[in-house]
Amino acid sequence: MPQPPRSTTPRRVQYDAKSGSAGPAGNRPRTGPGMMGGRMGGGPGGGPQRGGAMRHRGIGSLSPRRTGGAPVTQERSAHKKIVKIEGTVGLQTLAARMGAKAGEVLMKLMSLGMTGVNINSNLEPDTAKIVASEFGWEVEDVAVSEEDRLVAAQGLEPKGEEDEGLEPRPPVVTVMGHVDHGKTSLLDYIRKSQVTEGEAGGITQHIGAYSVPTSRGPVTFLDTPGHAAFSQMRARGAQTTDIVILVVAADDGVMPQTKEAVTHARAAKVPIVVAVNKIDKEGAQPERVRRELSEVGLVPEEWGGDTLFCECSAITGQGVEKLLENVALQAEILELRANRTRPASGVVIEAKLDRGQGPVATVLVQSGTLQRGDVLLAGSAYGKVRAMLDDRGKNTDVAGPSVPVAVIGLNDVPAAGDPVHVLKSLKEAQEIAESRHHRERRSVMSAHKKVSMEELQRKMSQGDQLELKLIIKADVQGSVEALSSALTELSTAKVKTTIVHAAVGAITEGDINLAIAAKAIVVGFNVRPAGKAGALAQKEGIEIRLHRIIYDVTDDIRRSMEGLLAPTLVERLIGKAEVRQLFKLGKTSVIAGCMVTEGVVKRNAVARVLRAGDLVWQGRISSLKRFKDDAREVKEGFDCGITLDGFTAMVEGDVLEVSETEEVRQTL
Ligand code: GDP
Repeated sequence: MPQPPRSTTPRRVQYDAKSGSAGPAGNRPRTGPGMMGGRMGGGPGGGPQRGGAMRHRGIGSLSPRRTGGAPVTQERSAHKKIVKIEGTVGLQTLAARMGAKAGEVLMKLMSLGMTGVNINSNLEPDTAKIVASEFGWEVEDVAVSEEDRLVAAQGLEPKGEEDEGLEPRPPVVTVMGHVDHGKTSLLDYIRKSQVTEGEAGGITQHIGAYSVPTSRGPVTFLDTPGHAAFSQMRARGAQTTDIVILVVAADDGVMPQTKEAVTHARAAKVPIVVAVNKIDKEGAQPERVRRELSEVGLVPEEWGGDTLFCECSAITGQGVEKLLENVALQAEILELRANRTRPASGVVIEAKLDRGQGPVATVLVQSGTLQRGDVLLAGSAYGKVRAMLDDRGKNTDVAGPSVPVAVIGLNDVPAAGDPVHVLKSLKEAQEIAESRHHRERRSVMSAHKKVSMEELQRKMSQGDQLELKLIIKADVQGSVEALSSALTELSTAKVKTTIVHAAVGAITEGDINLAIAAKAIVVGFNVRPAGKAGALAQKEGIEIRLHRIIYDVTDDIRRSMEGLLAPTLVERLIGKAEVRQLFKLGKTSVIAGCMVTEGVVKRNAVARVLRAGDLVWQGRISSLKRFKDDAREVKEGFDCGITLDGFTAMVEGDVLEVSETEEVRQTL
C-alpha cells in the first residue's frame, strides 16, 4: 500500500507547534490600528491567540494577547467607555453596544484590512478590541478562561493545595534509541518477565503502558518506544516521562537516532539512564558505547560523570534487573511526588474505539486517584468511568499517581497526549468538552489535509510528469514574486509545480474555491486565512500551508512533491514454512503448527498459502509463536505456530511463502 506522503506530517506538527507558541507580539508596543492595512494577516510576531482564533486572525494577530497584553495606546476619552464581552462577540451586538451602526463597524473592519467579514460575523475578542478602539470604546473580555473553569469544575482551590499531602510516586519511563538497537525487545522482555505462570492468558494486556515492580519500588513503562511518540506528546503540551532509558546496541554504538534521542530528552529536561544492549553478542563493545556517549555529554559515573550505564541483553535478560534498579535509583534522586487524595488528573497515553466497549482510553494518572464512577474529561471527550482495566487486563476500581489504566465510559476517542481531569459534574465536563470540540473543528490543522494529499497523489499519479498546483498568498508583492519564482524553479523532470494564482493579501474564500477547482495547495506567506476561508478549506480538505520563511516554503513544497511520487514497493521472499498440524483455538481461530523449511518467518510479514502449487490465500501473519511465547521471527529448521489474519482453512501440507515488502522512496 502506498503510504500517504510522509513528508507533510512533520511539517504540520512543526507548524502547529510554531503557531501555538506566543510570538513576541504580546510584549511589543502596540501597533496603532492605522498600521494594520499594510501588513494584514499576521506579521512575524503574530502567533494566534488561542486555538480557535483563526477567523479574523488578519487583525487579531497584531493585537495584544488576551492575557498580559500591553495596554492599548489609543486616545482615551476622559470617561472610559467600556463594552464587556464574553469571548467572541457578534458584529451587530458590538455595534449596538457602542451605539454605532453595524454597517459602520463593518466598513471600519474592512478599512483595517480585514476581508471575508460580513454583518453577521462573530469577532474574536482581539479583533473586537481593535475595532472598538476606533470608535473610542474599550473592550473588556470577561470570559472565564478554560483553566479557571477547569479548576472550579474540579472543586479545587485555585492555588495552594499542590504542596500538601505529597507522597512519593513511581517514575514513568520511556525507552528511546536508534532503530534495531533493541527498544521493543527490551520492553517485551521486561513486560514478559512480569508475567507469572498461570496468569490469565500468560500475557500482559497491551494498554500502552505497564507497571513493573523492582526492589526499590514500582516503575511505570510507556509501551511506545522511540522519540516520535515522546516528542508528539510534548508538542501537545504533555510531559509524561520522568526518565528516559537510552538503548544503545553494544555492537553498533552511537548512531544518529541515539543522538536525536539525547537531544529530545535534554530538551524535555528528562534524565537518561543508558542501557548498553546486545551485550550477549559477539563483537559487543560496551566500552566504545561509553566513549561515544561521553562525547555527546553522557559521561558514565565510573568515569566521574553522572550518567548511569547498564550493560544488558534484551534477549537473555542479563543485566535487565540491574537496569530496572538503576532506573528506580535515578527516580529516587528525582524525588518524584504527587498528591493522591485530590481529584485525578493525567494524560491520555493511547486510545482506540473498541467494538464491544466503545471508546477505550489508556490514562496515565499523574496526580490524585482515579476511581470507577468518576466523571472524566479527556481532551474533547467526556464520560463517567464505567470500568477500568489495569495493565494485566484485570478490573480495578482505583488508580493512583503514575498508574496507567484503560478507561471505559468516554463518549468519544480522545487523542494521545490529551489532558485528563476528573470533574465534579457530568454537565460541566460535557460543556468543556463541547467547547473544546468546537474549537478543534475551527482549527486550521485538519486531518483532511492528509486525505487531500492522498487524493492529489491518486489523481496525479496517472500522467508521466506529475503536477503540483499552488496558490500563493503573501503579505507584500516582493514576497509574492520571490515565492513564485522559487517555487516554479522547484520543477523537475518528474514533478512540475504550477502557480495557479499568486497575489498579495490574506487567504480568502475565493482562494479556497479556486484551490478546490484547480486541486491546488494554498501557500500562505505571512498571511492567514480570513473569514470563512479556514473553515471552508477544512470542510473541503484543501491544504493550507502557512509559513514565515521562504526556505521553509520551498522545503515544504519540495517534500510535497516527493510525496506525490508513490513509493515503489519491492517484495522480497524471506522464507517458507510447511503446515504440519492444525490446532483449533475456540471457534474462530486456528493455529497452524509449521516447520520453517527455508529462510525465516517473521511476525506481521505477508504469507501466501500454496496448496499443491496453487495460491489459496494471501494476507498477513497475525501471530507467530515458538512454543507458547510470541516470537518476532523463527528461523529455518524450527517449529512454530502461525495464525493468519482472517484465514483459518489451512490444511496439512500447505506451504506458506513468507515475504516482506520494502518501500523504496522515489526521489525528485
Ligand atoms: P528496536 O527497533 O530498537 O525496537 O529493536 P528491536 O527490539 O526490534 O530489535 C532489533 C533486533 O535486534 C531484533 O532482531 C532483536 O531480536 C535483536 N536484539 C534486540 N536486543 C538484543 C540483544 O540484547 N541481544 C541480541 N543478540 N539481539 C537483540
